[in-house]
This record gives sequence, C-alpha cells and structure tokens, in this order.
Amino acid sequence: MFEYKAPMRDIKFVMQEFLACDGHYQALGYDEASSDMVDAILSEAAKFTEQVIAPINQIGDQQGCHWEKGSVSTPDGFKDAYKQYVDGGWPTLSQAEEFGGQGLPHSINMVVSEMLSAANHSFAMYPGLSHGCMSTLEFHGTKQQKTMFMPKLVEGSWTGTMCLTESHAGTDLGLLRTKAELNEDGSYKLNGSKIFISAGEHDLSDNIVHLVIARATDSPAGTKGISLFIVPKFNVNDDGTIADENGVSCGSIEHKMGINGNATCVINFDDAKGYLIGEKNKGLKCMFTFMNGARLGVANEGVAASEAAFQGSLAYAQDRLQMRSLTGVKNPKDYADPIIVHPDVRRMLLTQKSIAEGGRALVAQLAQLVDITHASNSDEDKLAANNRLALLTPIAKAFLTETAVDSTSYGIQVLGGHGFIKEWGMEQLLRDTKICCLYEGTTGIQALDLIGRKVLGNKGVLLNDFIKEIKGFCKLNENNSVSALAHTLVDYVELWAEVTHDIGVKASANPDELGAASVDYLMLSGYITLGYMWAKMAKTAQDAISQNSADKDFYLAKIQTAEFYFARVMPKAHGHLACLASGAKTMMSMDSGHFSF
Ligand SMILES: Cc1cc2nc3c(=O)[nH]c(=O)nc-3n(C[C@H](O)[C@H](O)[C@H](O)COP(=O)(O)OP(=O)(O)OC[C@H]3O[C@@H](n4cnc5c(N)ncnc54)[C@H](O)[C@@H]3O)c2cc1C
Repeated sequence: MFEYKAPMRDIKFVMQEFLACDGHYQALGYDEASSDMVDAILSEAAKFTEQVIAPINQIGDQQGCHWEKGSVSTPDGFKDAYKQYVDGGWPTLSQAEEFGGQGLPHSINMVVSEMLSAANHSFAMYPGLSHGCMSTLEFHGTKQQKTMFMPKLVEGSWTGTMCLTESHAGTDLGLLRTKAELNEDGSYKLNGSKIFISAGEHDLSDNIVHLVIARATDSPAGTKGISLFIVPKFNVNDDGTIADENGVSCGSIEHKMGINGNATCVINFDDAKGYLIGEKNKGLKCMFTFMNGARLGVANEGVAASEAAFQGSLAYAQDRLQMRSLTGVKNPKDYADPIIVHPDVRRMLLTQKSIAEGGRALVAQLAQLVDITHASNSDEDKLAANNRLALLTPIAKAFLTETAVDSTSYGIQVLGGHGFIKEWGMEQLLRDTKICCLYEGTTGIQALDLIGRKVLGNKGVLLNDFIKEIKGFCKLNENNSVSALAHTLVDYVELWAEVTHDIGVKASANPDELGAASVDYLMLSGYITLGYMWAKMAKTAQDAISQNSADKDFYLAKIQTAEFYFARVMPKAHGHLACLASGAKTMMSMDSGHFSF
C-alpha cells in the first residue's frame, strides 16, 4: 500500500500563486483567512489525513460496513477517526459562526476535502454529505429548522444524508413514490423506501438528518410535485435536543464494487415525522443547492483519486527496476533501470499528474466562485459567479471523474501485475473511483445538462462568455513565453464554438442529435477547459521563473507538464470531435430488437 502525502507545494501554488487567494479573501471580507492562517490549517489537515485517515483506508475496504438488525457498524478505526475529526473542529471550518462554525471560506474546506478523499474516499463521504445537508438547510431552512438542526451538524455530532433515489426512480426523480401526508401540527408523515443512501445509517454520530424528497398527497405527478423534507433518525425537540425514535430504519446495506467503508443503505420511512423545507412542490430546486455543491464535491473526489493514483504510481516507478533505458544504462549500480526511464511509463505518470494538477486548479477556481456567491456584496459578481459555476460544474464533475478512472487504471498499469494485487492499493483506488461517474448524476446526465441546459438552453451566452475570457487570455499572451500554448488554445476554442453551433443546428431538426453528441461534447469541453487551466498555470510559473524564484525546478516542472498536456492529452479532444461530428445515425439506425440475435 502506498503512503499518501498531501501535495502541499502544489496546493500552495494553486491557492496563493495561481489564484491569489489572499486578495480574493480580503475582497470578500474573510479577514481571518490570512495566508499564515490558511497555511496553518492546511498543514494540520495534511498531518491529520496522512496520519489518521489514510491508515484506515485499506482496512475499510477489506472489512466494509456491517448491518445487523437495522444497525450499521463501520470498519475498525472509522469511529475513532471520526471522533478525532470532530474534536479537531474540522466540520466547523467553513460553516457560519452563528451556528458554531469558524466562518472560513468554502474554498479552504474544498482543499481539506481533497486531502480527506485522497486519503480515504469512503471516510470522506460521511462528512461530505453533512456539508451538503448543511448548505441546503442554511439556504432554504426556516429559522426554527436551523435552530433545531444546524448546531449539531456543524459540530459534527450529527451527520446528514441526501435521500433521492428509489428502486424505480434514479435519474428520473419525477417517478418517485415516497408520500408525505400533512399532520395537524404542520409537520408531515412520510412513508416510502429509498435505496443507495450513502451514510444512511452508521455508528459515527448521535443522530442522522435525512433530506428526503417525497410527494405530498395533494401534489401533482412528475417533477412538479416533488417537495423536500427534513427527516431525522431520532426526533428533535424545538431546542435541538434529541427526543424519541422516528419512523426511520435501515432495511439493509449494499455489497458493492468499492467504497466499502461507506454504508450504502436502504432507508425505510414508516410514518416518519418530517418537516417541509423550502416551498411545497419546489423540492427539486432546493435539492439542487445540495446537488450543485455535491457535484463539485464529486469533481474534487476525481482530483483526489488522480492525485492518489499518481502518488502510488510515481513511488513505484522510481523504485521498480526492469529492463534498461532505450538510450543506454541510467542506473549502472543496479541490475536494471527504474521503470520511470521508459517513455510509456512516463506517458502514464504525466497523464495522471496533468489531470490531477489541472483538475485541482479547476476545482479551486470553482470553489473561489462559490466563495463569491456566499460572501460578495456585489449582485453582479454573484450573478457572474453563478453563471460560470452553472457552465463549468457539469464539466468538472464528469470530466474529472471519467479521467480519474483513467488515472486509477493507469495506476494499475504502471505497477504491472502488482497493480492487480490487492496489497498495493491500486485496484482499490480504481474500484473506489468508478462510483464518481455514477452518483450525483451519471456522466450521461451531466453531458445532457451541459449541452442541453447550460449551453444551448442559454443560447450559448454562458459558453460565449467563457470563450471570450479564454480568447482574451490568449491574445494577451500571443507574443510571450507561453505563446505556443496560447495559439494552440485559440484554435481549440474556435473549434469548440463551431461544433456547439453545429450541434444546435442538427438538434433542432432531430433531438437525438443532442443526446448522441452529449458525452463526446462534454469530454471535448473538459479537455479544452483543463487546457485553459494549464496555459494559465504555465504563465504563472513562467512569471515566477522570470522573477528568479528560488524554486525554479518546481516551476519548470509545471511548464513541462503544461507542454505534455497540450501535446499528449488535449489532442484527445479531436477524437471526441470526430465521433460527435458523425452524428446520431450510426447509433440510432439499428432497431432496438436487433442488438442481439
Ligand atoms: C454507491 C452509491 C451511492 C449512492 N449514494 C446516493 C445517495 O447518497 N443518495 C441518493 O439519493 N442516491 C444515491 N445513489 C444513487 C445514484 O445517484 C444513482 O444510482 C444514479 O443517479 C443513477 O440512477 P440509477 O442507478 O437508477 O440509473 P438509471 O437512472 O437507471 O440510469 C441507467 C443508465 O441510463 C442512463 N440514462 C438514464 N436516463 C437517460 C437519459 N435521459 N439520457 C441518457 N442516458 C440516460 C444513465 O446515464 C445510466 O447510464 C448512490 C448510488 C450508489 C451506487
């Protein structure tokens, strides 16, 4: 099993140099978030994740969670680690001070979440879901609901979930059957069954606050009749103390491909007491607060997985001796050269590195936009941040998780046969990562959201704004040390604009063209978006070198990784372009009954 080390130098580069977080935090009034404070928090998070969370990753996979008579026990060490997580004040980091939080920016918490997830994906999901629950309550809850639920969630002694999926209602939530009947006191009585509920039942916290979508008895069918309810495992008194048991039970847990340390539960609601949150029949709108944050969180899980895969692969490639370099012996004191000398191994390592670091830059940039939506005094800035988040969230979610699966698969490949053996941890990484392409909306659904709602649905306005920004960057840098990257990037964004227009034209004649193009379009968008991150990071690194920075090797490696990305990763966009240009015909012409004879 490889040892996880938080990538502190790269995190510092992204936060302080690439995104100038000092100025960003000051402008938003986050006076506490000085660079010294941020450094101190992240160093502590690094220690905690390396020393407490990473060591229970493999045992979590081996033992999994256990269900007995409705109770779920987490693997050895999870309970103690969660206690340390709470005692260390980690759940409170970016939560509002009025509920006992530290009031720090969301973007700092995002970095901590990356470390947690890279160290142990399953463990990180328990607090991750609580964060989504808290932001939904904060945005849509009443004062009374916040008094009842927020302080304990912020403290971490209670955890949260999102309960959407039912056995017959996954992507299509309009089909849900869970019913909510109004009680005389204004609360609701919920009946129904949810499946696949992450962290739905466990032994880490004193109470579990479920956010449940259900249909009120007098609501219409379909998505227009969905409302959102707070349904605690134990009832809660008005002052926030625990009362009696609610009608919530865990019917079973799933036995699954990965994330075995996280309990995936069937949760039954039998006359369970719930409270409407937000407006009746507007539940999906409220739930989107949870889901948008969670989608960014899953993008971050993708970054974490690529980072972990890169670390494990790099350590192995520097150590493993096999064959000699094609250009002559590099390690004469030993019987063979380390495999890092071989071009193909370098191809895989640099792909992982460029996706992890490029993805980190993208997620950090999006997290800064979230800071703006929370704390800016300017409505114009908030609107611009929300628009950019709307466009880039599906790209980040789907592209960074699909490429994370590639990175973890390379993780196995770099280790050769040993990658297939459990003790090295690489096959666990691949198994744990695949879920990121499925939950919070599959890649296919993110792709439809991108092309259908965010791009064509907005008549291209959001995309054009982004393309304008990228072209502005390229223009500014057309004659300097990153000009080669800038020129290439301009060609890509022009293709992006053209292909968007073509899909729009084709789809207006045949809607299947939209679906047929969607995933290739999303991947193409992802490669270009990450290309923009890399071009900008190369510029930041080049500027640091020009100023005679003492850390020249780091910046040189940044520029070399950018060049690799442009030469060997971004061209994959052309493959997607060719595929989507071929249109829907070859997919749709075969009769459904003729797929197999
Ligand atoms: C480990 C795990 C944890 C989970 N955690 C949670 C949780 O905490 N809370 C929760 O509520 N849910 C959770 N889920 C459920 C998860 O979000 C769903 O599985 C997911 O949304 C997909 O739904 P489904 O499985 O029903 O697939 P389906 O909706 O049946 O989709 C099957 C396939 O069809 C495709 N498809 C469907 N409709 C379309 C369309 N219109 N166009 C193109 N393609 C389409 C999908 O992309 C997918 O490839 C979890 C699932 C797992 C496995």
